[in-house]
Amino acid sequence: MKTDTKREISQKRTTRSLLLVTAVAVGIGIVIGANFHQDAQAANSNKGISPVDARARDFYAPNSEDLAPDEMRLIACGTGMPTARPKQAASCWLLELGNGDKFLFDLGTGSAERIAALQIPYNYLDKVFLSHLHTDHFGDLDALFVGGALAGRQKPLRVWGPSGDTPERGTKYALDHLYKALTWDLDGRKGITDPRGFQPFEVTEFDYKGVNEIIYQENGVTIRSIPAIHSLDGPVSFILEWNDLKFVFGGDTYPNKWYEEYAKDADLAIHECFVAVPDLVTKFKFTPQTALSVGTQIHTAPEAFGKMMSLIQPRMAVAYHFFKDFDTTGPINDRIRTTYDGPLSLAEDYMVWNITKDDIRVRMAIVDEDVWPPLATEKPELPDPSLRIPYSEFIAGGKSDMKDVIQPVYDEMNKEYGLNEKQED
Ligand SMILES: [Zn+2]
Ligand SMILES: [Zn+2]
Repeated sequence: MKTDTKREISQKRTTRSLLLVTAVAVGIGIVIGANFHQDAQAANSNKGISPVDARARDFYAPNSEDLAPDEMRLIACGTGMPTARPKQAASCWLLELGNGDKFLFDLGTGSAERIAALQIPYNYLDKVFLSHLHTDHFGDLDALFVGGALAGRQKPLRVWGPSGDTPERGTKYALDHLYKALTWDLDGRKGITDPRGFQPFEVTEFDYKGVNEIIYQENGVTIRSIPAIHSLDGPVSFILEWNDLKFVFGGDTYPNKWYEEYAKDADLAIHECFVAVPDLVTKFKFTPQTALSVGTQIHTAPEAFGKMMSLIQPRMAVAYHFFKDFDTTGPINDRIRTTYDGPLSLAEDYMVWNITKDDIRVRMAIVDEDVWPPLATEKPELPDPSLRIPYSEFIAGGKSDMKDVIQPVYDEMNKEYGLNEKQED
């Protein structure tokens, strides 16, 4: 039984030449590339033997690698569960293509923080595909919507999601009402910030019963949806095809015939794989009855995940939707391995897959927790101050007198930037 996914995967990638990457650490700034082992030797032979010489890294650092024109990069921005935990955000996957396109699949609770760590300008993060409307799959939509607009998304956020068996259970209803719930937030920003990113969500709601029907087709990228079986009618999974590569994102589901048929031969296939039933009782404190129902009927048990992967034979199978700890990983792996012996990644947050026709390389990203937003890709549009909604006289009249200590700040900035700004009354 294999229990070490990373080791298994690293054996698969040793023949591939890496993209050129620029070493940013310690300001050395030499360019390194090629096979990891050869490169380590070359770096040493060029620089002399030193343990601090720059050498190829075995991790992904945001903003340090170009994608090849024929390459996909997938980054797990959330692999966990509806109940929040610091180690794992809920379902969210960023797929970047060599043509420059970027897609977010799901945007579960906590995932906006993971996305921020990747330092991608928010103008590129404007396309979100939702598998269903459980909060662990769309609970951070408000965070990306508002936070992204404040930090440089200068266009509406586009969201694709399924209909429901009633209009109230569809994506359009959920997002229209989420936008309404943000009324106070959005009104308070009028006249103060660039308004373009705060426009209503551009929602494309498609039929959840559509079987392999196209829901998106732009720039050489085709995305189709297939139904999923989970909780109520409505959930779906997605299949993205580009440049002769096939990526499948499975939302929550009992294993189903549509995934079995249309995910076949995927280059990379993500499918949920729930916590093993005994651990649902001992660690999640479910009753045995609830554990069996949720762990095998509403979701996909590890044994069933393995059977599905044996049926569809992807180049890489990716399991997620479990708390991945030292004492849960082994049991899940063992249970999957009773029914599947192919390539497997047990996903955790910040796992990275580089996918080409010849190779799938799996690494972890190492991120900067002190990250600030990246520069916007376009010049900000100044807001119209006349749109500002004023305080009532009662509230405005409650201001303490701070003008004397604030005035030097205005003087400082006016001088630095050649402005003539004045304090509000
Ligand atoms: Zn769900
Ligand atoms: Zn879920």
